[in-house]
Amino acid sequence: MSKRTCDYPDCKRKPHAKGLCNSHYEQQRRGRPLTSLQTRLEELQLLLVNQPPGQCVLVGWAPTKSHPLVTLARVPMSVGAAALILSGQPKPSPDHECCHAPLVCNNGRCVQLDHIRWGTRTDNQVDRVADGTHNRGERCAAAKLTKSDVHTIRDLCTNSGLTQHEIADRYGIDQSTVSNIKRRQRWSHLA
Ligand SMILES: [Zn+2]
Ligand SMILES: [Zn+2]
Repeated sequence: MSKRTCDYPDCKRKPHAKGLCNSHYEQQRRGRPLTSLQTRLEELQLLLVNQPPGQCVLVGWAPTKSHPLVTLARVPMSVGAAALILSGQPKPSPDHECCHAPLVCNNGRCVQLDHIRWGTRTDNQVDRVADGTHNRGERCAAAKLTKSDVHTIRDLCTNSGLTQHEIADRYGIDQSTVSNIKRRQRWSHLA
């Protein structure tokens, strides 16, 4: 006779170990008191009302620098994504994800509605470059080019009639770098 659900009262998740679901087992393993998983969603809903303007609003249950998840309608998602949905902004497409405002906040625990919005994966990566939280492209010690340089170089390659050598000279970089940018081998995260 095998049990179908977690031992925690009212938890409908599948048992993972010692009769507990993954999340409850993890709570037990870390020596934390077992809490209802539903309360995270409730906590999130409380955080969405009366938000102090301009300040980060952080979910309390997750450690600093984490990107906590919450389950909404049986779908696990980032707390930011859940916050947007709960505030009446449905996910525009399956390719969208919750983006945090560049240069303002990149805290994965923040559900301040002024700090989060839907964006594509590319938007999110561009945000992170703008934020300096990403270690590709601009932040790389060897990089001489800014994000807008890369866009301009691509544009010059396609539309200007300049040779790659001429473009390279303008930016003080090698022709091979221009070629890589054109072929999107470098800074491909800028799309
Ligand atoms: Zn459970
Ligand atoms: Zn924030």
